[in-house]
Amino acid sequence: MAYRYQGQSWSEGEIAEMCCDSVVESTECHECGYSWRVEPDASNYKCQDCGEGRVHSPLVALGMM
Ligand SMILES: [Zn+2]
Repeated sequence: MAYRYQGQSWSEGEIAEMCCDSVVESTECHECGYSWRVEPDASNYKCQDCGEGRVHSPLVALGMM
C-alpha cells in the first residue's frame, strides 16, 4: 500500500520509519519542487527556495500528525 499526496507517494515502510525519525524529508514545494529536512510535525512551512510555496512533513500532509 502506498500513501499519496499531490503526486508524491510513500510506502508504508517509509511512513513507519518517519514516525521514529527526528527529522524527515518534507513534501515538495508545489511551486518549485524544493524539499528539505523538517521536523515530523512541520506544517505549512514557507518554501526556503522560492518563498512562495508551502511544504509539510509527509506525516502532517497525510493527516497522521
Ligand atoms: Zn518553492
